[in-house]
Amino acid sequence: MSNRRDFIKKTALGTIGLGTALGANAMLKSESSKENIIKKNNKKPLIISTWNHGLPANEETWKQLKNGKSTLDAIEAGMMIPEGDPKVRSVGYGGYPDREGHVTLDACIMDHNSDCGSVSFLEGIKHPISVAKRVLQNTPHVMLSGEGALQFALEQGFKKENLLTPESEKNWKNWLEASKYKPVINIENHDTISMLVIDNDGNISGGCTTSGAAWKMHGRVGDSPIIGAGLFLDNEVGAAAATGLGEAVIRTAGSAMVVELMRQGKSPNQACKEIVERIYNKHKNHRDMEYLQVGFIAVNKQGEYGGYSLRSGFNYAVYDEKNGNRMEDSKFKMTWDN
Ligand code: ASP
Repeated sequence: MSNRRDFIKKTALGTIGLGTALGANAMLKSESSKENIIKKNNKKPLIISTWNHGLPANEETWKQLKNGKSTLDAIEAGMMIPEGDPKVRSVGYGGYPDREGHVTLDACIMDHNSDCGSVSFLEGIKHPISVAKRVLQNTPHVMLSGEGALQFALEQGFKKENLLTPESEKNWKNWLEASKYKPVINIENHDTISMLVIDNDGNISGGCTTSGAAWKMHGRVGDSPIIGAGLFLDNEVGAAAATGLGEAVIRTAGSAMVVELMRQGKSPNQACKEIVERIYNKHKNHRDMEYLQVGFIAVNKQGEYGGYSLRSGFNYAVYDEKNGNRMEDSKFKMTWDN
């Protein structure tokens, strides 16, 4: 709200000499220019990924892009790193299971032509991002789920494996003792990995992969494999991706809305912030509010990027030519105490 008031106030000042439309326009431009602008022509490629596990993923994606691999192959290769790492407890192998002890995975990938592939509620396949890419490339569909996604993966030559590590099994058995569902996102500072890429040609693509909320009901699907919720892009405008409580992101079509706000002239930071505010307003009296965390990352066609979360603790990894691969802390609306 205060942001909106500030905007109106500043816009009103702008109109004194320049007229309303020009004032608003100048305001958007100058706000935009403060935020992470990468000068034209040296802003490509750019990679931004959620959480600390974004660093090794970015590293691999960057290497693949530099070696001339296709952007989808580069995203896949990057995201396979946290998927295969049992220490990453929220993605792929070693991810926390649902309340029945099953590790069920969600993933999606989308390219600059708006082609996309997605899998949800997939069990037993270590690299759901690869299966999502095959859905994009080898099927007439966008999304395959559950048994059908597994059947497709096996037909494509993927191997079925047990993804429940002894560590995860132990954690699950401990959880069963109280059986209280209260997903505390970012307590271990990692969750879904969502990645957005501007490639060497300036085209935008992205992907998400996750084991979803720990101790979810069997069959639960989050936002991450849903195009428009966990990930959305329009190559003419930009891209956005989410992490956090998937239910809240789905209810608000979060990533699609961030892209639409950028289309209207908002910077990536402004657009992420506005959707987080909207999610807050819709949930402040909701049962989910107690444990609600959502975070968005976004890039636009000009190479500006940003992120914003409801609560503190969200960070993302950014890789560009000028500054290399590093973590940046997201701005946020509130801390965990309020
Ligand atoms: N968005 C994911 C889900 O709800 C989890 C996360 O990113 O924390 O499945």
